[in-house]
Amino acid sequence: GNAPLNVVAIECVAEPGARRLPRVPGLPDDVYEHDGQITKREVRAVTLAALAPEPGELLWDVGAGSGSVGIEWLRTHPACRAVAVEPRADRADRVLRNAASLGVPGLRLVRGSAPSALDGLDAPDAVFVGGGVTADGVLPACWAALRPGGRIVVNAVTLESEALVTRWHGEVGGALTRLSVSRAAPIGGFTGWRPAMPVTQWVAVK
Ligand code: SAH
Repeated sequence: GNAPLNVVAIECVAEPGARRLPRVPGLPDDVYEHDGQITKREVRAVTLAALAPEPGELLWDVGAGSGSVGIEWLRTHPACRAVAVEPRADRADRVLRNAASLGVPGLRLVRGSAPSALDGLDAPDAVFVGGGVTADGVLPACWAALRPGGRIVVNAVTLESEALVTRWHGEVGGALTRLSVSRAAPIGGFTGWRPAMPVTQWVAVK
């Protein structure tokens, strides 16, 4: 009779079980080492789109936390540059580990608090403020340093930081957007929407 014909297609070129990471921003949260202080992937994707990296441009990631925004800025092009500013030593160490494990060891780290930690840095083409929004002088220093045509994106979660970005929006314009993300999660034997805290995002072009 006829011998069975076995056709084996070899499609897998990556290591078996290896995770495929998107080339575009919005990497899964769990590829980062973090302590809960991380801009969630959906908000991060929108944030990077607003920051609009171009090859060779410099980002300040102020309040870097786990470093996710600076890391995804650098992943868009090998010529991009980024400085992460983070005062907490444990988080600053984590920024460096995440940058190394995600292939962008060139992320520069400044250990310290804005605004003083920003002194002497090269003028940025884009600034992201994910922490320290309400600290005295942070937004004025970021806006002053930003190159003409540069973008600033500030994500506010607290009422205090939201009040501040609302004022800046009134004074210099730009766009205010409120982002609310819910993810399906188990409740009992069922599934329900677990909402994350809404984020008010201010984006302005200088
Ligand atoms: N975007 C980050 C999360 C930011 S959490 C991520 O995706 O991982 C906010 C961070 O801002 C915290 O790590 C906190 O230590 C830092 N921070 C608070 N005040 C600051 C200041 N004045 N200057 C710089 N960083 C500050």
